Amino acid sequence: MKDLAFNLARRKTEHLYRSRLVLEGPQGVEVYMDGHRYLSFCSNDYLGLANNPEVIRALQQGADQYGVGSGAAHLVTGHSKVHHELENELAEFVQRPRALLFSTGYMANLGVAGALIGHGSHLYEDRLNHASLVDAGRLCDGKMIRYRHADVGDLEQRLGEHGDNDCFIASDGVFSMDGDLAPVADLAKLAKLSHASLWIDDAHGLGVLGANGRGTLEVAGLGVDEVPIFMGTLGKALGTFGAFVAGSEDLIETLIQESRTYIYTTAIPAPVAAATRTSLRLAKKESWRRDHLRELIRYFREGASQLGLPVMDSVTPIQPIVVGDSKQCVSVSEALRSKGILITAIRPPTVPKDTARLRVTLSANHSTDHVDRLLECLETLFPAGEAGQRAAIDY
Ligand code: PMP
Repeated sequence: MKDLAFNLARRKTEHLYRSRLVLEGPQGVEVYMDGHRYLSFCSNDYLGLANNPEVIRALQQGADQYGVGSGAAHLVTGHSKVHHELENELAEFVQRPRALLFSTGYMANLGVAGALIGHGSHLYEDRLNHASLVDAGRLCDGKMIRYRHADVGDLEQRLGEHGDNDCFIASDGVFSMDGDLAPVADLAKLAKLSHASLWIDDAHGLGVLGANGRGTLEVAGLGVDEVPIFMGTLGKALGTFGAFVAGSEDLIETLIQESRTYIYTTAIPAPVAAATRTSLRLAKKESWRRDHLRELIRYFREGASQLGLPVMDSVTPIQPIVVGDSKQCVSVSEALRSKGILITAIRPPTVPKDTARLRVTLSANHSTDHVDRLLECLETLFPAGEAGQRAAIDY
């Protein structure tokens, strides 16, 4: 075994050591830790449904009806009526023939690649794809080829270089650490021309983007013909836990037969599926959540640009502020915490070297007063330079 103590010590000196925060209550825009209350800007609970009373009640009723654990894999006896109903509702929501629940988004991505991408197949992936898509590419039997971030020209060139084997193109819909959108319409055109199958992971777009919250593909107007493989997660905007893949009958039946991360694992608890049915209903019906979120995004970006803060080009609730150096980023995050604001420092390898950042995320449960408080604190930690642009104080 490698020298674990040495590696851990090196992580500390490089300011890359990760530790967990211990919350003493529910997820929300206000969280409690060590008896203190913090205003939080770092969850993925974009619609504010993780602690919603109706969702909680649905979970409780689900437990009364189905018990807690599902007790088996879906293909044994773990698949209940409520899982089935949720799959039908998810398929209808994303306007695809069928959907299949997976226990997590990470497993859904591994499961898709394992079942579909065999020897001789090529999988093209955006350089900034989520770790679960990258690991799916590493672990499957096909060959993974990475293209420059959101660069359809680079992808086209690479497709040309590798011939027309059985090809797949995989991309986040919304990039998780930058908040920008994939060029899905152009990816779809190129996929069609190259006879490649497009696979979109919309973990951060589902529930949030589009007039009906159907995500990145609703905005782009792309259906199952253009994007045959759609992956969505339930632990972010939908506020619960789990994930699904949606697509044609044949895709879903193939995953049921061949996806190892579907077959060889325990089904998510039925009460979680019951809670998700309710959160999906709320996400569809309560469009004020999306409208308010959009307004908060606009409000934050306007305030941040007036202050000259280094925000990234994002129209989504993910509004990262790049600090660059990991040590400095941790210092700014700690300084914010001392002022009662919680934003974790995201460092390599989650993001590329020298691009450590505060990953600010907004939720429909935030108010403009909350955003004002955040901007006031950021103003003190990012003093204005001569050109009006701000960089973090070097501690
Ligand atoms: N894809 C993306 C783009 C993600 O951001 C995440 C979670 N961070 C996942 C997949 C994995 O989803 P889950 O948390 O359900 O495993």
